[in-house]
Amino acid sequence: MRSHLSGRALHGVHRSPHRRRATTAGFAALFLTAGTLASGPAHADELPLSEMVTAEAIEAHLVNLNTIAEYNGGNRATNTPGYDVAALYVEDQLERAGYEPYRHEYEYEAWRTLTPTVLARTTPEKTSYEEGEHFETMSYSGSGSVRGAKVTAVATDTAESGCLPEQFADFPEGHIALVKRGSCPFGEKVQNAADAGASAALVYNNEDELFTGTVGTESDVPAIGVSGALGEELNASTRHLRLKVEVDASITTESSYSILADTPGGKDDNVVVVGGHLDSVEDGPGINDNGSGTAFLLETARQLAAQGEDPNNKVRFAFWGTEESGLVGSTEYVEGLSEQELDDLALYLNFDMIGSNNYGRFVLDGRMELPGSVGAPSGSGAIAKVFEDYFEEQGQVSEPGELSGRSDYLAFMVAGIPSGGLFSGGDGTKTEEQAEWYGGEAGKTFDPYYHTPDDNLENINWDSVAELSAAGAHGVEFLAETTLPVNGVVPFSAPAEVEPLRKGDAWLR
Ligand SMILES: [Zn+2]
Repeated sequence: MRSHLSGRALHGVHRSPHRRRATTAGFAALFLTAGTLASGPAHADELPLSEMVTAEAIEAHLVNLNTIAEYNGGNRATNTPGYDVAALYVEDQLERAGYEPYRHEYEYEAWRTLTPTVLARTTPEKTSYEEGEHFETMSYSGSGSVRGAKVTAVATDTAESGCLPEQFADFPEGHIALVKRGSCPFGEKVQNAADAGASAALVYNNEDELFTGTVGTESDVPAIGVSGALGEELNASTRHLRLKVEVDASITTESSYSILADTPGGKDDNVVVVGGHLDSVEDGPGINDNGSGTAFLLETARQLAAQGEDPNNKVRFAFWGTEESGLVGSTEYVEGLSEQELDDLALYLNFDMIGSNNYGRFVLDGRMELPGSVGAPSGSGAIAKVFEDYFEEQGQVSEPGELSGRSDYLAFMVAGIPSGGLFSGGDGTKTEEQAEWYGGEAGKTFDPYYHTPDDNLENINWDSVAELSAAGAHGVEFLAETTLPVNGVVPFSAPAEVEPLRKGDAWLR
């Protein structure tokens, strides 16, 4: 167990802000000499936030969010009454805690299928494939109907399958292009196929199972993601193969909003943004995804306010809209900020799923140790260490969670803002070793109910909620006090402007 001697010493320093101001230099020195940063709360006479934010209080919010979903179509999907009423709940809770929540509104291109997509083999023998089992329509796929078209595989023996226009040099007009997942974005593969005269494009996974993909912006031809197992089968039998593809989709301009709330006090040029998405998928109440993160944010905001003192750094709580359709709310927010507003952001913490049924303790991989982690700005590793240190202090194992762009931290990282957060696991599979660390079942996914109607109160893991919310609250309190390890900003602002009376011997006034 690493020592936190400095923690205790630092409490002393924290107790009196006035004395604190006078010792900025001393304080910084103390920091450096202490080697490790204080992990205790700034308010020695109060419980640390990690103890004020309880699983019981989070459960109360989740029960309310579940009731709201039950009475409003069974979900909290973007642009539905379920979302609007949940938003009113969040705003009401924040107002009761003394915040002035505000909405960040945006418009976006909403893509939907109007009728079920069809993928079937017409020759050598008729076979219909199941959406959700064998294939998934890629979001923003164009519409189209193709009957009994031949299939041509394009460089499926390479990781660049479909990435290069020259790979389509002899592509027969009207054929369906079969390409494999690899190094370049799906949208590029499908566009190259369309440009070469393909009537549709199938992208198969480079692992056996199915995947949910997007082409990003509307494609010119139908685009379907296929499981690796089926893809290999089709790839091996293109000679006599004919397929039927039907995609009936629409894109409409819709509008929605995210909710933001700032602590009244704290430095507004070194803002700690703490967020998670409020919307759910249409399939169910999304109690873990992301009711759990929403409830955690709400309770942390309430308890931070209850501490009754301004944090050093302003904390901005964010409840993002339209995450499930492509991280829309958070992206619109970040892209709408001016240069100055971006500069005023110190860092971003993301909480998307903290109650997974077969959970793990994942700290978003700011050091990019995992192969799938990309683009973490400097300082993100320091954020990870704040959480890791806390788990270690509790004697709890934690491990890096991939920073692959799957949640609302992406826009912040792209904008150069150090980012981190916690996650309890989704569609990855738990190993024997992880089962030893976290309990639960090896060989089973971390959240078997992910994006299903069964992502409900019964399937929440309360140990996960308790452990990850405590670590999360600790991280919020720590960084609200100081972001020095993340962005080099010392906790206390420079002393007030001094108005000297004399200049040398001569009086100025
Ligand atoms: Zn989510």
